[in-house]
Amino acid sequence: MLAAQVLGGERVQVIEVPDPVPAAGQVLVRLEVSLLCGSEMHGYRGDKAQATNGGHEPAGVVVDASGSRRWRMGDRVGIHAVWGCGQCEWCARGIYTFCSSFRGCPGAHAGLMACPDHVLLPLPDDVDFEVGALLAGDGLGVPYHTSQRLRCRGGDTVVVVGCGPIGLGNILVQSFRGARVIAIDRVADRLAMAREVGAAETVDASAVDPLEAIQELTAGRLAEGVVEATGVPAGFALALKLVGKAGTVACCGENRDVTLNVGNDLIRRDITVFGSWFFHFREFPEMLDLYRRGLAVGKLVTHRYPLARIGEAYADFAAGRVGKPAILVQS
Ligand SMILES: [Zn+2]
Ligand SMILES: [Zn+2]
Repeated sequence: MLAAQVLGGERVQVIEVPDPVPAAGQVLVRLEVSLLCGSEMHGYRGDKAQATNGGHEPAGVVVDASGSRRWRMGDRVGIHAVWGCGQCEWCARGIYTFCSSFRGCPGAHAGLMACPDHVLLPLPDDVDFEVGALLAGDGLGVPYHTSQRLRCRGGDTVVVVGCGPIGLGNILVQSFRGARVIAIDRVADRLAMAREVGAAETVDASAVDPLEAIQELTAGRLAEGVVEATGVPAGFALALKLVGKAGTVACCGENRDVTLNVGNDLIRRDITVFGSWFFHFREFPEMLDLYRRGLAVGKLVTHRYPLARIGEAYADFAAGRVGKPAILVQS
């Protein structure tokens, strides 16, 4: 099969590799669509070549189900990126992200993937592969799970800091749920995408002071909810400034060390800060239901590339020129 290999130093190549062979309890899936994720940029910009690639948001068709009783050839499926062991209590509850022996799926920018049969999600006929990959992966999964924790009410102001794919997904979900969403970024194209997926207002942090802008837009009240989707300490610090009294900050960006003043930033204003990682396998039917009630999930994919041009996809994504890029694996 053909597969992308990330070489580091912002280089990617497409190579021929042996087809994966499904083990007992596994199925073989022919991948149709594989989405690019911001988390892949570390490897892309790094200095080491990877065995394959970091793709983990695919959808496709089961082509060998002989090792499984759950699936049949021809079934259309999305693949959950976090492979729980399938045996422990968390896995039994449909929460693979809490499994202490989970592993990540292998590089999904490839023609085929062999995977445990319990990590597949069924795609009904009214869900195309692109939407399927969004519903079964980070694209909608992360914003949906965040929204389950943020619990803003209709009419609340939600500020989204950072308009990469995760920020855009949060804008889409929060605006669909009735929040007034204000999006902040420093890239004009991303602010345009933010408006496209539902932001009522946008703030260009390269041109104005975002704190002053949010104060003005909320008559000094600030936001009931803030989603931090930059993953850099300055984004987290800004999120803490933009949240109003008794408000909540959701951390979607993978920050490492940050500083905060517990007294001033949290205690004296009753602020809640929480982290939210990926989504729970069991949440898929709820996300499918939201899609069927009109959530325009497909808008999150802004550009498409055949596998042969995946290098262009990485470059455009790294430069912030596109929202969520889709790799059309079989073309
Ligand atoms: Zn991801
Ligand atoms: Zn487990």
